Amino acid sequence: MSYDQIEVPEDGEKITFEDGELSVPDNPIIPIIHGDGIGTDVGPAAQKVLDAAAEATGRSVSWMRVYAGASARDKYDENLPEDTVSAIRDHRVAIKGPLTTPVGAGFRSLNVALRKKLDMYANVRPTYHLDGVPSPVKNPSAMDMVTFRENTEDVYAGIEWEAGTDEVQQVKEFVEEEMGATGVIHDGPVGIGIKPITEFGTKRLVREAIEYALENDRDSVTLVHKGNIMKFTEGAFRDWGYELAAEEFGDVTITEDELWEEYDGEKPEDKVVVKDRIADNMLQQLLTRTADYDVIATMNLNGDYMSDAAGAQIGGLGIAPGANFGEGLCLAEPVHGSAPKYAGEDKVNPTAMILSGRLMFEYMGWKDAGQLIRDAVEKTISEGDVTYDLHRQIEGGNKLATSEYADKVVENIHELA
Ligand code: NAP
Repeated sequence: MSYDQIEVPEDGEKITFEDGELSVPDNPIIPIIHGDGIGTDVGPAAQKVLDAAAEATGRSVSWMRVYAGASARDKYDENLPEDTVSAIRDHRVAIKGPLTTPVGAGFRSLNVALRKKLDMYANVRPTYHLDGVPSPVKNPSAMDMVTFRENTEDVYAGIEWEAGTDEVQQVKEFVEEEMGATGVIHDGPVGIGIKPITEFGTKRLVREAIEYALENDRDSVTLVHKGNIMKFTEGAFRDWGYELAAEEFGDVTITEDELWEEYDGEKPEDKVVVKDRIADNMLQQLLTRTADYDVIATMNLNGDYMSDAAGAQIGGLGIAPGANFGEGLCLAEPVHGSAPKYAGEDKVNPTAMILSGRLMFEYMGWKDAGQLIRDAVEKTISEGDVTYDLHRQIEGGNKLATSEYADKVVENIHELA
């Protein structure tokens, strides 16, 4: 396998995916994008920790640096080279740091482009509380939730037109004259976007969420939508979600109505409850009835807002991990962005990127290495060894740089292994 400007490590073997099965050697080649801004801090820090966890469980990782964003502009003179997309597709499992997206003008989100190009339709964001992590809520350990956010549709699909262009004028005329939506769009400059929600996109996402709930003994899957207002998009997501549950998982799922009518509110052990909540209510329920929520399935925009809010309850963006999944593909990435004001300061928290690596290891079947990472991170934080973001919320504690914190986690991996 050769790429234009990527060095393929000589040692290490490829992860393969055949007949629906991922096959992972003990020394896989894993592409890594360090990312923009603080990506240059958290990328190498996470790599160090992941190496230690792999070695402690009798394996090794051959990292293959690939490029997107600023690092790609330096090397290739473009933001998202084909080399990078093919390297991730060929190697099946990869990890990336954050990439900067300019607001308003400039290029479209590279994150969105990468997820679309690789058809990684599910962005999965677990939110669980680690011992010792300060939180703004009274009972942070009540949060143990996994959000499945649809990744390829919604207002994020990039179908939008800029105010003042001929295209936006044509769309406005079509909507008003052909579709009869008069008196809705104000006069004067307007930007217009389109929100596609398909049955196909909804069902494959909800299927992943229900399968995850069944495999991991979770109690419920909640469909989060704003279908009371956006009836034919978000409302359809809810309806297709329930339809999929009944069609494909009818014998192992029940609705909330059935839970009360047939089981008097006592969930049978072998069933997952499928319920739905309106998105604005859901944001307050996350705070007031945290423990009632388990696995969430939602669309792109709701999922983005909700997982950041949920992340705040368990310690903030420095802690919150994520990963994108497609057919035999995993691209792990933290929830946070490139926080340019801290770039290169060796200051920010690498935990989110480290725990994203844990998700990647779990996908590869390296559950023991994943558990070791979680335990070592928890030990580090509960001993008061933290970066600035957690340090400002706790009494005492040792304020560490990104690299020092990663070294502490590595030390704890060695101690716990
Ligand atoms: P951000 O980069 O996530 O940073 C927002 C704030 O969150 C930071 O100022 C910091 O808070 C805190 N934070 C983020 N990461 C942290 C870490 N590792 N450790 C400790 N604290 C952390 O969000 P943004 O400023 O809105 O976005 C910056 C750029 O990132 C934008 O171009 C955006 O498009 C991009 N972005 C990329 C991704 C991605 O690549 N997947 C995701 C989101 C945003 P304090 O200032 O309070 O310390």
